[in-house]
Amino acid sequence: MRAFEFTALPWNVIFGAGALARLPEVLDRLGCARALVLATPQQREDAARVVAVLGRRAAGSFTDAAMHVPVETIARARTEAARLAADCTVSIGGGSTTGLGKALKLEAGLVHVAVPTTYAGSEMTNIWGRTEGGHKLTARDVRVVPAVTIYDPELTLGLPPHIAGPSGINALAQAVVNVCARDDNPIVTLMALEAIRVLAHSLPAVVRSPRDLAARTAALYGACLAGAALGSGTTGLHHRLCHTLGGSFDTPHAETHTILLPHTVAYNAGAVPEGTRRVAEALGVADAAAGLFALAQQVGAKTALRDVGFAAADLDRAAELATAQPCPNPAPVTRAAVRDLLGAAWEGRPPHL
Ligand code: NAD
Repeated sequence: MRAFEFTALPWNVIFGAGALARLPEVLDRLGCARALVLATPQQREDAARVVAVLGRRAAGSFTDAAMHVPVETIARARTEAARLAADCTVSIGGGSTTGLGKALKLEAGLVHVAVPTTYAGSEMTNIWGRTEGGHKLTARDVRVVPAVTIYDPELTLGLPPHIAGPSGINALAQAVVNVCARDDNPIVTLMALEAIRVLAHSLPAVVRSPRDLAARTAALYGACLAGAALGSGTTGLHHRLCHTLGGSFDTPHAETHTILLPHTVAYNAGAVPEGTRRVAEALGVADAAAGLFALAQQVGAKTALRDVGFAAADLDRAAELATAQPCPNPAPVTRAAVRDLLGAAWEGRPPHL
């Protein structure tokens, strides 16, 4: 076995159907007494449910969380937290809401309990992001790992299939890039391969039968493991491209991951053949990139950038922006090769063709 380094993150996970009921006990354990509940406008009902579970431990709620954590949103939530004398936040929602909880931890020191309801996996990572003037900044900082994450699969039963499919493939991407990595790490790989197996099996069932609690439970477990792999692992060209497209061209986050993943896996396949073979094995297919493309189709997700509002006229600029800075990645990153990759993804061609 070759030498490796592994740094664990300070994860505290409570996982299981009905686990939301443990919230008061979790706050007591953390020494917190006044929680500000965070959610998006679409999840006001979920926020109200958390407030009800918290009872006297709820200080109030802020239900204006938004995609990519705008600085204006952080400022308004901070003001609300101060007005209500909150000593912690409980975020309920996807990566956007978890991201707001992370920002409030970093900027205002508020203890954060995360209750994820998508498969974004942000709650298991040390990555934070915020958007200012249309520019998204992301960085790693161990302080943003939530104090406790409560995974309650029952809260995901209402996640619509058109969000669940791409969200699950966003999770898969976090795992796949950590198996198809040059500096792959055996502990991260262990979590990532299990995430791939579990997600590949559960996502089609989630989309077919949204109220299937066993499938929902498996998918959420897969997302937890994938987020753990991303948090303690690495990223490369795949995440660079997704952030370039999302940050500069406003493409939707999970859909962008879903469309690009088969192409970035094909791009790196020659440079990391053993990792790519292991991904295919975990997916239960002969070819990893083709298998990921087929899975996206199976869960009804979009497979072409042109179908998510990305203009063909922006392909050159996107390739230029994505390659402006060096990108650590198994296969060499050149502007011409990235332009070809993006062209194939724009058309929705299967990878390798
Ligand atoms: P999201 O959080 O924006 O959620 C998408 C929509 O689904 C929202 O309207 C949300 O309210 C709704 N929703 C969520 N759960 C639901 C449920 N159970 N039932 C009904 N509706 C529900 O999207 P996302 O894909 O989860 O997260 C994307 C964001 O997270 C991006 O900003 C991305 O950059 C970030 N992210 C960060 C990390 C990290 O490690 N920091 C990792 C992954 C994603």
